[in-house]
Parts: sequence; C-alpha cells; structure tokens
Amino acid sequence: MHVVHPPKLSDTAGDDDDDTPELLRTYQTWKGSNIFFLGGRFIFGPDIGSVFLSVCLIVAPVAVFCAFVARKLIDDFAHNLGVLIMAVVIVFTFYVIILLLMTSGRDPGIIPRNAHPPQPETTDQGIEVGPGHTPQLRLPRVKEVIVNGMTVKVKYCDTCMLYRPPRCSHCSICDNCVERFDHHCPWVGQCIGRRNYRFFFMFVSSATLLCVYVFSFCWVYVIRIMHGENTSIWRALIKTPASIVLIIYTFLSVWFVGGLTIFHLYLISTNQTTYENFRYRYDRTENPYNRGIFGNFKEVFWTSIPASKNNFRALVPREPKPPPRVTSGSFVNSNIEKVPSDVETSNMKPVWKNEATARDDSGTVGRRRSSLGRSESWELQSDIASLTGIEYSDRFSRGGSSGSLGVSLGGSVDVPVK
Ligand SMILES: [Zn+2]
Ligand SMILES: [Zn+2]
Repeated sequence: MHVVHPPKLSDTAGDDDDDTPELLRTYQTWKGSNIFFLGGRFIFGPDIGSVFLSVCLIVAPVAVFCAFVARKLIDDFAHNLGVLIMAVVIVFTFYVIILLLMTSGRDPGIIPRNAHPPQPETTDQGIEVGPGHTPQLRLPRVKEVIVNGMTVKVKYCDTCMLYRPPRCSHCSICDNCVERFDHHCPWVGQCIGRRNYRFFFMFVSSATLLCVYVFSFCWVYVIRIMHGENTSIWRALIKTPASIVLIIYTFLSVWFVGGLTIFHLYLISTNQTTYENFRYRYDRTENPYNRGIFGNFKEVFWTSIPASKNNFRALVPREPKPPPRVTSGSFVNSNIEKVPSDVETSNMKPVWKNEATARDDSGTVGRRRSSLGRSESWELQSDIASLTGIEYSDRFSRGGSSGSLGVSLGGSVDVPVK
C-alpha cells in the first residue's frame, strides 16, 4: 500500500539529510507561470487580472440594463413578459460568466514537462567516440510524423524537454506546451487549447448573443417611449441616456465578439487553429486535420474532452536541486541539435505534403543527421498516441541516407507509459 505523508509546510528547502522528502502539491512545484486557486483545483494563466476585467465588462452593462431599461419594461408588457426580459438577461449573464470561468479556470491541455530529455539508445550507430571523448548523441530538433497520409513537422521543446505532438505549441505567456494550441487569450487570461476550446467558442458566441439581446431591448424601450409620448426617436433617446450608452457599447462590442465568433466558425468548419491560420495558411495547402465540415464540428462539439494530463493536487517530493548533468554515454540536453534561432519563431515552412508525393526538399529535416534508434521515437510516440482520432506514424531520416528514409513505427506499437 502506498502511504503518502502529509505535506510539510515549512520552508526548509534543501534539507537533503532528511530521510523523508518534503512533499508538496504539484501546483506548488509548477514550473509554468500559471496561477492556481483553491489548492490547485483551478488553474489560470498569469494574466488572471484580465478575467476580472472581462467579468466587469459583462456584468456592468447588464446591471445598467437591468436597472434602467429592463426594470422599466416590466410594467410595459402584459402577462409577465416584462419580467421575462429581466429574468432571461440575468440567467444568460450567469451562463456567459460560467463559460468564461470554464474557459479560463481549467487546464487547457497542458502537456507535463519531462524531468529529463529523451534518452537515445547508446548502442546505435553513427556515434563517433574518439579517445577521451564523451559520446555525443544528438536528437533532431525537428521530426516528421505522418498525419492522415501527410507529413507534418513536429519540434522539440527545450523548456518541456519533449517533442511536441502535432498541433501542440509552447505558450510563451504561460510557459507550457499546450495540446491543439489555438492562442493565448488575454481576455480570458488563459491559453485556448484542446480542453477548453469548446467553452471558449461557446463563451464568445454567447457573449455575442448577450450583446444582441441588450442592444435589441434598448431599442424596444426607446421605441416604446417614442410611441407612448408620441415624440421623435431623438427625443425618446434623450429621455433614456442609459439606453444610448448601452446601444453604443453593445454595438461596438458585437463587432469584436461577433467577428470573433464568425472567425472561429470559419476555423472550426475548416479544422484550423488560430495559430495555424495565422502561421500556416492552410488555404494554399491541404490541411491534414480536415474531416469535412460535419466531422470538424463534431470534433469540437461532440467528442469527449480528454482528461487532464496533470494532477495539480498530487503530492510530489520537493525537488532537491537541479539534476546533475549526465557526462557519460547518455544524452545531454545541450546536444539537441542547435538551429540559429528558436524553431518556433524561425521561418520554417509548414510541410503539409502528401506522403505519396513527398520530396525531400526540406533539407533541414530530411537530411538532418540522426544517430538515434527506436528509443528516440517512443517519447514522441507516447505523446502522439494520446491524441485520439488521428492516425500518426513517426518518421525520421537517418544520416547518410538520401531522401526521407523513414522508420515508421505505425500507430499501434506498444508505447511505454510514462
Ligand atoms: Zn514546451
Ligand atoms: Zn497561455
């Protein structure tokens, strides 16, 4: 039976002589820049302040609407219809706020960092060891995987020490690798990724409807004043300055949230992320993730959201000190192949090419020297295998070969569970 000791709350870090290592919650040792609440039950991005701002930007106009417009309309409609106007806006506002918190307060799909870089096999060929030299093993910085018959490049993340699965990207604000990374939304203060994209879209589209609702009933109120007092629309407007403010506010807001809703409807229908749309421009190339409009909507709205890969409340021993560098026969992180700049920001072109017609024109990848064997692949394979619905096979080229001589492990190999 596994017995866990309660976490010590003392600050005696580095007490190496203690037999029982000090236990902390995972969120207390979290290396990303997230902010946690309620003992790690809720995870936000570092810019959580924007969540409160967004809540205010929603609640404040609704409060003005209730106080100065909906309250007046209660008496104007028979059969409690006026009450319904007030009730609907209040309930709908709660719904929008809950969607906002479900977007920003949960794990967006963070891939846990590796404690150590992937270990290549030391028995592989291609390692030249001179006298007095440590074997230098290198992992390629970029690898190729096959997604639905198309070659997709995946990159190594130095921070998380893993090969990012396809569609994964490292958020520079939260400092995490996030699955199906869409973008980091400053308004919800969180990454938008595989686990919260659905809620993000529902939040944005619902906020659009809320704007339309408030906008419409402000005009209803103005028109009722106009008819009731038999006056012009301008005089009616002057009689309700709150309506003027709300009409302008919701008119401006609906361009933002409504435009965002339409943009994301386009992205969903074509199965793109915001990141991919801005970076890769699938319009000119074939998108390996496209399942057709119906399949794409189904993927976003009617598939189960995968469980978080992180247990932020799990008890873990406090890390004593940075691990010493391995000096003999095994992989050292600095031996990851260096490229002039971070690949994420380099001018690496997306490669969505059909496998049948794939040419080794990438140069940087196809001829990249690799001295690694199967073990190189399992790290990637285990990451990718967790992604459901899309068949991946790993493929990387070997030094000295011409063309993309791939070693395909297929999609159903046994994957070591980390
Ligand atoms: Zn990362
Ligand atoms: Zn982020």
